[in-house]
Amino acid sequence: MKYDFLIVGAGLAGATAAHELTKAGRRCLVIDKRAHIGGNIYTEEVDGINVHKYGAHIFHTSDKFIWDYVNSLVEFNRYTNCPVAQAPDGKLYNLPFNMNTFYQMWGVKTPEEAQAKIEEQRKEAVEKMSAEGITEPRNLEEQALSLIGRDIYEKLIKHYTEKQWGRPCSELPAFIIRRLPVRLTFDNNYFNDSYQGIPIGGYTRLIERMLEGVEVRLNVNYFENKAELDSLADKIIYTGEIDRFYDYKFGHLQYRTVSFETETLNDTPNYQGNAVVNYTDSKTPFTRIIEHKHFESFGNDLYVNPKTIISREYSKEWKPGDEPYYPVNDDRNSSLYAKYKALADEETNVIFCGRLAEYRYYDMHQVISATLDKISSLK
Ligand code: FAD
Repeated sequence: MKYDFLIVGAGLAGATAAHELTKAGRRCLVIDKRAHIGGNIYTEEVDGINVHKYGAHIFHTSDKFIWDYVNSLVEFNRYTNCPVAQAPDGKLYNLPFNMNTFYQMWGVKTPEEAQAKIEEQRKEAVEKMSAEGITEPRNLEEQALSLIGRDIYEKLIKHYTEKQWGRPCSELPAFIIRRLPVRLTFDNNYFNDSYQGIPIGGYTRLIERMLEGVEVRLNVNYFENKAELDSLADKIIYTGEIDRFYDYKFGHLQYRTVSFETETLNDTPNYQGNAVVNYTDSKTPFTRIIEHKHFESFGNDLYVNPKTIISREYSKEWKPGDEPYYPVNDDRNSSLYAKYKALADEETNVIFCGRLAEYRYYDMHQVISATLDKISSLK
């Protein structure tokens, strides 16, 4: 055998496994069917701007070990995610819901005034529902109304959610929104985590660092040459789709997907003044616009490059063959995954890692952490 490990997938899971195993003296071969490393966190430099090719990625975690781990590989900047929403009334509102949002919505200036206004809105919605004989929210619309009231629901939640899911909120299950956190401080930071940032120079640099000294073959689809590739290594670390591994024998797992329309604006150094602007109205067909340079350029640095690059994001129904983005953890898919997992648990030479092989919505820090756990006994 030439290699100890064949690693299928050069995304964050595959690269973490390769990095750790190589450090421990194991011989690894990494393959990926794409023409580049990085999986979905791949960033490509275009006109001096690092474009997040598969959607905006913000590293955030409260796990100090993981934060120190990634910072030992590359330097992170101080990017803080503060999205803005363009609402149906044409106004801009800060997200997540915080004192800035409540001031913009109702003119309230203190936490006490904001809390009273939210309570008034909530009460109104609940009373209206109970007058109609509704005691328990039956769908997402009723759930959101009972948690936050009409103004915020209609301006910031309803249309965005309907675009995301392609269905009216009144037909979506209530459990999608369990809680709607509100912040009674003037704090636009989207995440509650202790650490947050973007690797300076983009995420591809992080993966390049992880794969230093590792043999990588791109444009290689595992399933087109499985027997030969399997014969090269003792063990396989598989980070692709678990249902594909078993030839979809129990059926296809489902995903939610997004498509991106990316455009370079040549004489516009600063298009929207923020990395993320959500469109919470029904007329705009896309859900949000990402302006990539804001992830890494701040203040006057923005104007050094006279161009900018934006991506409009559209949610769409997934069908087999589309890019699988977000696992759908409903009952159907969870029980289907359980069947595949039972087969995977029987494997002695294959380790399943990452969001596709474990069919889980993992953030980046969680993928690293889960992969470190999975491979700790293999070193
Ligand atoms: P992937 O990145 O999908 O890598 C799997 C790799 O395996 C791919 O490169 C694929 O080509 C390869 N592969 C699959 N099958 C085969 C095969 N048969 N042969 C060869 N190669 C194969 N996380 C955050 O922490 N913050 C964010 O802001 C954030 N934003 C996100 C936005 C979007 C739109 C999406 C979809 C995800 C986001 N995430 C975010 C999650 C993040 O992308 C994942 O946690 C991470 O990329 C998962 O890494 P992975 O290696 O498990 O999977």
